[in-house]
Amino acid sequence: MTARVLVVDDVLHNVKLLEAKLRSEYFDVLTAMNGIDALEIIEKDQPDIILLDVMMPGMDGFEVCRHVKSNPSTEHIPIIMVTALDQPKDRVMGLEAGADDFLTKPIQDLPLFARVKSLVRLKFLMDELRIRNSTGKAFSDEAGLENSSNIKFDDAKVLLVEDYDRVAKRIIGYLENTVDTIDLDDVSTGSLSTENLGDYDLFVISLSLKEADGLRLSSSIRSNELTRHTPILVIIDEGDNNILIQAMDLGVTDYVTRPIDGNELVARVKSQIRHKRFADYLRGKMKKNMEMAVTDAVTNLYNRHFLDTHLDNIFSAENEKQSHASLLMLDIDHFKIVNDTYGHASGDEVLEEFSKRISSNIRSIDLAARYGGEEFVVVMPETDAEFALFVAERLRRTISNEPFIISGSEEPIKIEVSIGVSIMSDECNTKEKLLSEADKGLYKAKETGRNKVCGISCFDE
Ligand code: GH3
Ligand code: MG
Ligand code: MG
Repeated sequence: MTARVLVVDDVLHNVKLLEAKLRSEYFDVLTAMNGIDALEIIEKDQPDIILLDVMMPGMDGFEVCRHVKSNPSTEHIPIIMVTALDQPKDRVMGLEAGADDFLTKPIQDLPLFARVKSLVRLKFLMDELRIRNSTGKAFSDEAGLENSSNIKFDDAKVLLVEDYDRVAKRIIGYLENTVDTIDLDDVSTGSLSTENLGDYDLFVISLSLKEADGLRLSSSIRSNELTRHTPILVIIDEGDNNILIQAMDLGVTDYVTRPIDGNELVARVKSQIRHKRFADYLRGKMKKNMEMAVTDAVTNLYNRHFLDTHLDNIFSAENEKQSHASLLMLDIDHFKIVNDTYGHASGDEVLEEFSKRISSNIRSIDLAARYGGEEFVVVMPETDAEFALFVAERLRRTISNEPFIISGSEEPIKIEVSIGVSIMSDECNTKEKLLSEADKGLYKAKETGRNKVCGISCFDE
């Protein structure tokens, strides 16, 4: 992993030392010796991560941090505060100022690399989600959350894995004012006995368990589909560097060392939950964007592009067993008159209600799509001619029997539909033929009086 790190410190020796350490791990390093220069470099060069000294003359680290985190073009860049060992309050203050992590001087290699790598990994993931979401924004104009600072903590749920009763009580005491629920799993069976692991925002796991291997538990949490994205904060003994390296390699997201500092634990728990919830939010939005790309906004049915792909799949060689799919092509009768009489918005309302009635009168394995303006297609797998005609007739009546209520007219208005039917067979064996046969049926229905169902050739029987 290569990333661009900005080191900010007013003491040249400290800058040089950190620069050398980071370069030895192949990071690309930028440096600044005061807050003003740092802000300029951050804006211009967009580093992937910032190592920021707290105590600097002029603008101190807290102030730089607040500037970075309140600027929309830099707020996503993670910041590690570098604090003096004898100023434990600074760590928590740093996290409160929006910093993502902190290190204490003198900086040791292992915690340095562990924290930098973990944050850079998180940043790259967030960058990717952010890019996909801005692509998705083209489809939606809803205002969204731009960064993790607006994330809510409501109902935060933490699972603590600790078999030392006294320690567990102390940790629960630290966290009870911050999170809603803290469940304890004492792994007395050698593995987790807690259910619904997917409901948790964070796992806090001791790596000095008597009956279980905390690293193995972390690894199983990482490989479980439900908890793959849930952060894990481990508790390790001071100086246990081997365990720390293994834990970070497994994808553990953060750690604290014993003896546990309550304030630090609270700050880290908060920052982990905030990151998780923001990533969940971005992922959820991405899923919605994907749904929007395949559905039609007015009717919520699948769009033509999706229908095409679906038909290709039906006709693909792997899908031979679907040899009796049938297709309905529906076109609203004299729809132009609806628009001309009641206006385009009322026309849209009719399309919406029309689509609802279609959707609720087909099976869940059937697929309804908007094919064009007021033309729709229903694809029904494993459906013979008799049943297809039966469904088509039922759909026709569903539309014509119950007049439509629209805001543009006091009286409900009568809507009718013509439907063409086609069936897959040895002759009707491509997507194009299936669509064109249904279209011919539709044309015949229109020609012979509308408000009716017609199927022509392509029928085996
Ligand atoms: P026919 O019975 O022959 O199908 O007559 P028709 O009036 O339904 O057919 P025509 O193709 O002449 O007109 C279709 C109309 O559908 C014209 C077009 O403005 C309207 N339309 C297409 N898409 C939309 C839409 O998204 N919203 C609204 N309100 N109207 C639409
Ligand atoms: Mg029409
Ligand atoms: Mg038409």
